[in-house]
Amino acid sequence: MNQFQYVKPSDPKTAIAIVSKEPAAKFIAGGTNLLDLMKKGIVNPEKLVDINNLPFKSIEKASNVFRLGALVLNSDAAEHELVKKHVPLLSMALNAGASPQLRNMATIGGNIMQRTRCSYFYDTVMPCNKREPGSGCGALKGYNRMHAIYNNTESCIAVHPSDMCVALSALNAAVVIQGTGGARRVSINDFFRLPADHPEKDSNLLKGEMITAVEIPANTFGKNIYYLKIRDRSSYAFALVSVAVALDISGGKIRDARLSLGGVAHKPWRLYQSEKFLVGKQVSQANFLEASKLSIQNAKGYEHNSFKLKLVPKAIVEALQKASSNA
Ligand code: SF4
Repeated sequence: MNQFQYVKPSDPKTAIAIVSKEPAAKFIAGGTNLLDLMKKGIVNPEKLVDINNLPFKSIEKASNVFRLGALVLNSDAAEHELVKKHVPLLSMALNAGASPQLRNMATIGGNIMQRTRCSYFYDTVMPCNKREPGSGCGALKGYNRMHAIYNNTESCIAVHPSDMCVALSALNAAVVIQGTGGARRVSINDFFRLPADHPEKDSNLLKGEMITAVEIPANTFGKNIYYLKIRDRSSYAFALVSVAVALDISGGKIRDARLSLGGVAHKPWRLYQSEKFLVGKQVSQANFLEASKLSIQNAKGYEHNSFKLKLVPKAIVEALQKASSNA
């Protein structure tokens, strides 16, 4: 690992000023992904700006929004009474992620900022456009079992690894960002990028900007939610496919529906067409099947991951069944 400086400012302005001015400075909070990247020489910051003293550790509910500070630990958020009561989908998704030890260190902001787990990204002797733009993509013709089926380019077919962000996508959460020019809010569905011509960029966050919170607008989903994660082992594994479902059901009819997928694209993948189909329909297996068929219209498999084309619709149907049967 390269040598680096370490500072721990106590106010956001100072932290943001340092990372804005210094090209090789980076924020660090839980460090559960960044330290791995540094040990492998994938990122080499000259200065780490520890943000753990900053005042972003609260969980608050107002009448129209639920707010989680960026430094709330994943484990604290997952088990918090207000989260379990008002945004249970988020609690389910958080508990599906990583391991208890990692959830005890990882923060909400860090969960959003974690990098892909594509094995070629972490193997520095292999080509990887995300790690080294222009070098090629080792996964495209390599072992791509974990990779994307929804793409806008073949420059990178990596998937976003977070479970939490799939739930946040379904809940139309906003990422609250602070920079030298002030604060801004970006929908999580616009925060992450597709690879296009810049696979090295995961998100639309600008240099020096810091995530300070996540806001979830009030909703009417109640208990008809479910987070289904399909993976190779039952704990501490990334999703092959995951599905976040939130339904508003009244008298057996679906009044509102949200569906987002994980493990299939460079960002959490909202299924707007399937949602539109479900709204106004009765809760029924036939309607769930129809909605699931719409999900893979623009999907494309590669040598080792074509099974996802069958797995995705089946996972959607199962998640819809589970969500609609919650009392
Ligand atoms: Fe790199 Fe993306 Fe290709 Fe993986 S899929 S090797 S991260 S360019």
